[in-house]
Amino acid sequence: MLPSLSPTEVERYRRQMMLSGLGETGQRQLKDTTALVTGVGGLGGTAALYLAVAGVGKLILVRGGNLQRDDLNRQILMTDDWVGQPRVFKAQETLSRLNPDIKIEAVCEYVSADNIDTLVQGADLALDCAFDFQERDLLNAACVRWGKPMIEAAMNDMEAYLTTIVPGRTPCLTCLFPEKPDWDRWGFGVLGAVSGTVACLAALEAIKLITGLGEPLLGLLLTMDLARAEFTKRHPYRDPNCPVCSQRHLANLPQRLATLQPTAHC
Ligand SMILES: [Zn+2]
Repeated sequence: MLPSLSPTEVERYRRQMMLSGLGETGQRQLKDTTALVTGVGGLGGTAALYLAVAGVGKLILVRGGNLQRDDLNRQILMTDDWVGQPRVFKAQETLSRLNPDIKIEAVCEYVSADNIDTLVQGADLALDCAFDFQERDLLNAACVRWGKPMIEAAMNDMEAYLTTIVPGRTPCLTCLFPEKPDWDRWGFGVLGAVSGTVACLAALEAIKLITGLGEPLLGLLLTMDLARAEFTKRHPYRDPNCPVCSQRHLANLPQRLATLQPTAHC
C-alpha cells in the first residue's frame, strides 16, 4: 500500500501532480521509493537535487572525499565555505533544507566490493553517476544480482550518454561497454551546464521509471554531443554471453531474484 501525502506534500507537489502521467498516485509512488545515487558530484549531486524536490521518499547518497574549490563550477549543492570538508554531508544538508519531507542518508565512502551489496539491497533503484568505471562496474553487477533498475549516466568533455538498465530486460553496462571508453577521469574539462543537463535527464529517467510517466530509455542508449546539441538514440546490443547479465549467469541467482520483474512503481 502506497503512503499517503501530508497537506504540506500536497501543496509542495501540486504543480507536478497536475501532469496527467503522474498525478497523486505517481507522487505517492515517488514517496514510496528509495533511490541510491553514487558519485554525488556535478552529475550525481544535481540528479539528487531533482529527485529531492520531486519528492522521492528516501535518497542514499554515496561519495567519498572532500570538496575542492575546482568542484564548485558544477557541484551546485556545495558552497565555497565547505571547501576541505566531506562533500556528501553538505549535499545531505542542502537537500534537507530544500525538502524537509524526505529522508536522506549520506555515506561518505566510494563504492567498493565491500559496501555495494548492502547499498543496492537498501534501494529500489540506483543512479550510476560515479566517477570511474571501477565503481560503475561494481554497481552494475550488484544491480543485476539484486534485480534492481539502474539509470546509467556518464559524461566526458562535451559528450555524454544515458540509458536505463533493467536486469533481465535490457542490456547491462557490461553489454554496452565490454571495454571501457578511454576517458581520462582526472584530466577532462567539464562545464556545469553540461553535467547539469545530463543530471536532469538522469533524474527524469528515474522519475519516469518510478511513476510510469512517459517512456524511459529502456534498451535505448541516448548519446549526446552537447557542443553541437546533437542527440541520438541507439539500440544497444544485449550480449547473450555477457559475463554479468546473461541468462546463464542469471540462472545462478536464487530463483526469486532471477525472476524478479520491476515492481509496479519501478
Ligand atoms: Zn550484460
